Parts: sequence; C-alpha cells; structure tokens
Amino acid sequence: SIPLSYFGGIGAASHNGILFKGANYLDLIAKVNTVVIDKTGTLTEGVFQVQKIESVYPDKEKMIEYAVALESKSNHPIAKAMLEYHPDILPYDFNIENVEEIAGHGMKGLVNGKDVLTGNTKLMKLHKIKYEQKIDDIKETVVIVAINKEYAGFFVISDKVKKDSWNAISRLKKLGIKTTVMLSGDKKSIVDDLADELNIDFSYGDLLPEDKVYHIEKLKKDSDNIVAFVGDGINDAPALAISDVGIAMGGMGSDAAVEISDVVIQTDHPSKIATAKQIARSTRAIVI
Ligand code: ADP
Ligand code: MG
Repeated sequence: SIPLSYFGGIGAASHNGILFKGANYLDLIAKVNTVVIDKTGTLTEGVFQVQKIESVYPDKEKMIEYAVALESKSNHPIAKAMLEYHPDILPYDFNIENVEEIAGHGMKGLVNGKDVLTGNTKLMKLHKIKYEQKIDDIKETVVIVAINKEYAGFFVISDKVKKDSWNAISRLKKLGIKTTVMLSGDKKSIVDDLADELNIDFSYGDLLPEDKVYHIEKLKKDSDNIVAFVGDGINDAPALAISDVGIAMGGMGSDAAVEISDVVIQTDHPSKIATAKQIARSTRAIVI
C-alpha cells in the first residue's frame, strides 16, 4: 500500500498547481539530477509579435498576403503572430491548396495558384532557395518567404522570456540539479544566447522532435543521470515520453504534451519544476 505521506505530497503539489499522475513520480522527481527544458512556450511566453517585414517581391503587400494566407493553415505561435499582424487577410478570400506543415521547418502550399513557402533557413535550404545573407545574422526568429521557388522576403518575429525563467533555473541549481540543458527547434543563435542569459549549462538549437529524443537518450545512457524533460508543445511529446520524468507545462500547452507526461504544471511558471522537486523531497523525508 502507498504510505499516507505520499498523499500529503500529492496534495501539497496539487495545491501548488502541480499534478502528479502517480506516487512513483514523487520518488523519481526527488532523484532527478538533470533537467532538460524546451524553449518556446516553456521558458518564453510563446507569444510572438511581428517586428518587421522586408520584401524584394515586386509587390510587398501581395507577398504579405500570400505568406499570411498560407500561415492561416497552421496553429504554430509564429503563424498566430503573422495573422494577428494582418487581421484583414481572410483565408477564405484565397484559394489555398496542397498545404503541408513541416515540423521544425515551416509551411508549404499553393496560394491562388502560386507556390508559397514560409519558414526558416532549413526550409529554404531544403528547397534550394537562395535568401539574403544578412538573414543569418538576425538575432530574432525569422520567417522567410519564397514565391514560385524564388526568395521574396522575410518577417522578423520575436518572443519574450518569461520573468519566472531566471528564478526557475537558479532554484533548480540551489536544489542541487547538476546539469541543465535547453533544447529547441528555434535558431541556434537565439537558443545559445538565451541559455547564456539564464545560466543554463548546455543548449542545442535547430532541433527536430526526434533530435530532442536523441539528446535525452544520450543523457540517459549515463546511469548516474535521472533525467526530467519539461515541454509544452506537440513537438515535445516524444521527448516527454522517453525521459525518466516527463513534465508538461499545461498552462497553454498542447493536449498531446499533457496526455503523455507524468507530471503536469497547470500554470505557466517554469519555477514550479523546482517546487515539484522540493515537495517530492520533503515527502520522501517523511516516508523514510
Ligand atoms: P520549439 O522547439 O522551441 O518549441 P518549434 O519546434 O515549435 O520550436 O519550431 C521550430 C522552428 O520551426 C521555429 O522557430 C520556426 O523557425 C519553424 N517553424 C515551425 N512552424 C512554423 C510555421 N508555421 N511557420 C514558420 N516557421 C515555422
Ligand atoms: Mg515549445
């Protein structure tokens, strides 16, 4: 039978907006010494805003229309930012066909008969589109647009770091977490800069969902590592499934992430990872 204090621990956690899907995860999270965290939506707000648009297409307004119309078929936070920037663009005014969303890359489709691509440099390389070199130096997230297989311009889009993220990392370190890692599908330079700023030990960008799994498997190969992964998106589901403890940021997170996780943080506060560990530790102390 489960010792009574486990219920105390689960109750204290739930009081803090942290849901344990089983008492065994209290034990496991108490032993976690390696914390791997997704960036977008977990350490950042995941609320993007268009900052700037540049175009080399003969008609800039048309380029914006094609790109936004295509993105209207995506649920990604980047797509939402582009639609919000131009609410006058109504998807049903366009003939949008053959849409494909390519995880970690962007979108592809036909808009009014034009072949449109919207996404990152990886997507452009995949389709052999030559874009302006200065794009590689931009420090924010960039959505590049190609029309009929030619580079047409780009959107600069930015996201804000959650205020609670600094607190989250410093509390985890105080609790004795020996390794912190950030994994993201976003640009490597953005990911590395944020890791520096937040004092996260290792960071990897430009990742596809399967690359996140690879990094967690690699960490788990060292039997001294008990690995927690924290993520919010559908692209995080495989990583949540394979980690020792999968923690979903459930505040705005995807249903898939919440479903496959072992622990759910029901608010948007990453510092609750530390709270969960603290509660788990004191629960164990009572049991032993
Ligand atoms: P994270 O792992 O940080 O949560 P994602 O895997 O959701 O990030 O996205 C990775 C990258 O893929 C984005 O930064 C963006 O460059 C590109 N991308 C994904 N979806 C779209 C989209 N709908 N439109 C444009 N770019 C996209
Ligand atoms: Mg995410």
